[in-house]
Formats: sequence, structure tokens, C-alpha cells
Amino acid sequence: MSQETTPDSNLPVLRVPRGERRLPPNSLWENRFHIRSETSNRLYIVAQNKAKRHWACSCPSYRTRRSCKHLQAVGLPTGEKPYEVRLVEGN
Ligand SMILES: [Zn+2]
Repeated sequence: MSQETTPDSNLPVLRVPRGERRLPPNSLWENRFHIRSETSNRLYIVAQNKAKRHWACSCPSYRTRRSCKHLQAVGLPTGEKPYEVRLVEGN
């Protein structure tokens, strides 16, 4: 059986965490989704930079250290390393 492969079909799959929402892109960021703090009810936003292709989080830890447990929890690199994935809704 021959199958058409799309250019991104070999990318690692990143699932939006169960129960969280995928968010629309804005001018600088795409592949945005909510991630919930483990220690509070705060919601942070994880997103991919459109130009530089790295991932970031809106939490205080990421903002000061460019690294946080939220990115690590979903398997994304920290430290502003470019990284491509195929983002899919959870469940
Ligand atoms: Zn974070």
C-alpha cells in the first residue's frame, strides 16, 4: 500500500495535555496551548516562536531561566533550542 506522506509526518507528536485547550496563534507565537501548574490553579501558556522555532512558557521559571518543568513535562527542549513537532489535541 502506497501512502502519501506529508512533510511533517515524521515529526515527533506533541499532545496537548488532557483537558487543556489549544490556543490560536498570535503575531509572534504559534502552536500555543494551556498548561496547568502542578502546585496551583494557575494556567500558563506554552508556545512556539514563529520566527526562531523554539518553545517557551509564560511561567516565572521560564522567564528567568529559559527552562521550566512545564516544557520538560511535555518533552520539549528548554534553553531556546529550535524544535519542530506535530501538535495534536489531547485525549
Ligand atoms: Zn513553565
